[in-house]
Amino acid sequence: MNLNDPTLLRTDSYINGEWVQAPQNRRFAVTNPATGKVIAEVADLDAAAVTSAIDAAVPAQAAWAARTAKDRAMVMRGWYELVLANAEDLAVILTTEMGKPIAEARGEIAYGATFIDWFAEEARRVCGDVMESPIPDKRFLTFKQPVGVFGAITPWNFPIAMITRKVSPGIAAGCACVLKPAEQTPLSALALAELAHRAGIPAGVINIVTGMDAPAIGSTMCEDDRIRKMTFTGSTEVGRILMRQSAGTLKKMSLELGGNAPLIVFDDADIDTAIAGTMASKYRNAGQTCVCANRIFVQDGIYDEFAKRLVAASDAMKVGDGMEDGVEQGPIIDRQGLDKIERHVADALDKGAELLTGGGRHDLGGTFFQPTVLSGMTPQMQMFGEETFGPVSGLFRFSTDEEVVAMANDTEFGLAAYIFTDSTTRLFRVSEALEYGMVSANTGIFSSEVGPFGGVKSSGLGREGSKYGIDEFLEIKFVCVGL
Ligand code: ADP
Repeated sequence: MNLNDPTLLRTDSYINGEWVQAPQNRRFAVTNPATGKVIAEVADLDAAAVTSAIDAAVPAQAAWAARTAKDRAMVMRGWYELVLANAEDLAVILTTEMGKPIAEARGEIAYGATFIDWFAEEARRVCGDVMESPIPDKRFLTFKQPVGVFGAITPWNFPIAMITRKVSPGIAAGCACVLKPAEQTPLSALALAELAHRAGIPAGVINIVTGMDAPAIGSTMCEDDRIRKMTFTGSTEVGRILMRQSAGTLKKMSLELGGNAPLIVFDDADIDTAIAGTMASKYRNAGQTCVCANRIFVQDGIYDEFAKRLVAASDAMKVGDGMEDGVEQGPIIDRQGLDKIERHVADALDKGAELLTGGGRHDLGGTFFQPTVLSGMTPQMQMFGEETFGPVSGLFRFSTDEEVVAMANDTEFGLAAYIFTDSTTRLFRVSEALEYGMVSANTGIFSSEVGPFGGVKSSGLGREGSKYGIDEFLEIKFVCVGL
């Protein structure tokens, strides 16, 4: 890996401001999914390390919360500036361990950094209230206070942004954290910790525990009553496990789980906008995001033209190692991911879908998959009910608004939905009818630190980013004062 600052490449865990190895210096390999080569051997910590990280976080949190919000914001601002100053190195680390094209990695660093900046500012705008008292000799007020130490578990598909989106509101509110990054992408997390350290974020406020034994690390966090909140991004299955494990200590929970995003193209849509939006939503990160379009519903009148244009755009995509110039689609993260994509495509073809382009592994070998378009999809197919997490566009034909809204909502998930239409009334009607946490209209990219990100139903609980995000890390205390 060619870095301007090679000291950003950390391979030990970061606990209580120190770089920590595992017992017997146990390590696990991190591989580059584009080449299959091992790029680092990272400390493989166990559940005992989680407990020592919590031991460190408890006093650190109390001291951090005692500082003024303005003071915390200034330290966070330093972290933000260091992330920007080292953006290129962070992007190289990210692409090397995760595989997304370097341009997308640069975009993720910029996006991820905005959460640090935004929540540093939000820290200073936390306000309690003074209410009109119903009793003459009593006064009613509220304080907003940090929940305490929180546990965070993050996925591999946004190795930087999913961390800053959780850690920034938490530390802005005066909390401290113990975070386990995905085992596929620990290097980005450790580089962020190195920059947090340089910025002067005090020892124990951010702790990063790397390790392969996610179930043991997760359950130790959930069962420790000193952890007052869990925040998780990942699969619905693991989200349910964490919620169950947290029941004994009744923690506050934020869960960003799986999606099954409908993308609806109405006859009256501007086709250029719809194609550009579909490409951006579907193929970003090779289809490996929880907000990627998973079911593309296209109305009768525009269906054939849309399918033709989507095939042309998919065929024009440059697939390859994300470090190469102009690559738009990198590899799939691992074999397991690849197998699922193949299963979904085989199931669709088996049940009568028509293959318009792609459909299999790419000539590049490894875990590369061809950009694929399938037509004539039906609700009986696996892709209708489950996230494919790959570069496969499945087209469903529909006739009426009622029909498509019913199909879009016919899923246990409710994260992101997309609509393309030039009709304002339809835009409002359909946006209201969709049972989703986020609706993106006439654009394929909507994520921002300013907009609330989150889902309903089996897609999770709570909102990240925006003016609401910091509330997830604050408790409201009611204070009644007798005069
Ligand atoms: P994905 O399919 O995206 O890998 P996961 O939900 O399996 O989704 O992984 C997201 C994060 O959850 C990763 O950091 C992973 O290590 C962690 N994880 C996986 N299984 C568990 C578990 N049983 N308890 C706690 N964390 C887990």
